[in-house]
Amino acid sequence: MSRTIIVSNRLPTKVQRTAESLTFQPSEGGLATGLGSIYRQEGNVWVGWPGLFVEDEAEEQHIEQELSADSMAPVFLTEAEIRDFYEGFSNSTLWPTFHYFPQYATYEQAHWDAYVAVNEKFCRAVLELAGPEDTIWVHDYQLLLLPEMLRNARPECTIGFFLHIPFPSYELIRALPWRSELLRGMLGADLIGFHTFGYMRHFLSATSQLLGHSSQNGQIETPNRTVLVDAFPMGIDYGRFVAAAASEQAQQHEAEYREALRDTRIILSIDRLDYSKGIAERLRAFEVLIQRYPEWREQVSLIMVVVPSRDQVAQYAALKEEIDEIVGRINAQYRTISWTPIHYFYRSFPLEELASLYRLAEVALVTPMRDGMNLVAKEFVASKADGKGVLILSERAGAARELSDALIINPTDTAQLAEAMHDALVMPEEEQVHRMTAMQALVRQYDVFAWTKLFMDRLAYSKIKQLTLA
Ligand code: UDP
Repeated sequence: MSRTIIVSNRLPTKVQRTAESLTFQPSEGGLATGLGSIYRQEGNVWVGWPGLFVEDEAEEQHIEQELSADSMAPVFLTEAEIRDFYEGFSNSTLWPTFHYFPQYATYEQAHWDAYVAVNEKFCRAVLELAGPEDTIWVHDYQLLLLPEMLRNARPECTIGFFLHIPFPSYELIRALPWRSELLRGMLGADLIGFHTFGYMRHFLSATSQLLGHSSQNGQIETPNRTVLVDAFPMGIDYGRFVAAAASEQAQQHEAEYREALRDTRIILSIDRLDYSKGIAERLRAFEVLIQRYPEWREQVSLIMVVVPSRDQVAQYAALKEEIDEIVGRINAQYRTISWTPIHYFYRSFPLEELASLYRLAEVALVTPMRDGMNLVAKEFVASKADGKGVLILSERAGAARELSDALIINPTDTAQLAEAMHDALVMPEEEQVHRMTAMQALVRQYDVFAWTKLFMDRLAYSKIKQLTLA
């Protein structure tokens, strides 16, 4: 029987060391939920880093055993590998380049060497498990070289690859010293998936200009194989967010917040700390709103959640300081005894509290400079049971391709963003419900389970096609 192997940088379980033992904490991310039905099936497995540095072989074996009971196989990475492969090449070269921040990208040979070595390490781990007929689904920008490495070792395997971040214009890709190697690495797959057709077109253009491969209807002809490329916009676990928003706990939290805020109307923003998210620009736009429309002072507050992330990287630490400074300045300038313009939280919240914030907010501000998809936009939509509420969404988030009933804005256009907030605050309820229910129908139908199935079905088809063309 052929098996399916999922591969990603991180496993869907976080292993941590406490004073006396190891703890295994399942992750509740969208990907883990969406792929749960696949990797937990008999014989299938998920390969990835468990999130900690092991001390000795006995500990390694213990972790291996524990994880294998839940269909997972760990790849152990050293501190040097995490520094050079993960924080280095993945997050300081690929991440800024793919999010259109090339000025933040570093080009370090040692980081590239570590990236190659760690992709090889993942390859060895997969090969230990994979038979010749198996299906392997590789995820994201940390593992761009893995499809080709696997292809060389197991020519008959069915290999899929999905990129969770944007694929940028050829002009960005060409700036990378290792651009051809990266593209060839991806082309080891039978099927390459992106969130949007725009990213897919950029990929086709890059492979044509840099490698000279022609393509037609999303089929790339390489000298020895045909590779399918397609768009699969990722969804959320819709039911889970509906249930969380309806839960007793979420309603209770909402009531507490409401009491503290009295009748202040709420605009909400939730992101990981990242320069791609447009956080500073959004704060400036909020300031423009209360300057242009003084009537909103004491009426409207911004609740802004920023989840700590990558704070060892210099740009992230600088961004954190910039946000602190802008929030401090706006609050100091405009606050009154009974009103705080911006409620800023630099930490993460459990699901029920997030759900209560989604319930509480009349407007969600999702305004990234670039974002592969943006799941927060979809979670807000899923949480609005009564259909009321307005989503303001950046045209440069992948989600904007689907959620056309949001107020779509250009995140660098501060004036337009301030106007959109005003429009959202005065939007008649009937229009809110009209737009929101249209978005809900879409987010409900194309949930993360539908996404998984679409990709897996298309991957099976790509193999059949490959065989008939051979
Ligand atoms: N999130 C969370 N706790 C928080 C804030 C956010 O678990 O306190 C989750 C949120 O529900 C969403 C994810 O973090 O599922 C962020 O995903 P998104 O695609 O918006 O951005 P990313 O961080 O992947 O760039």
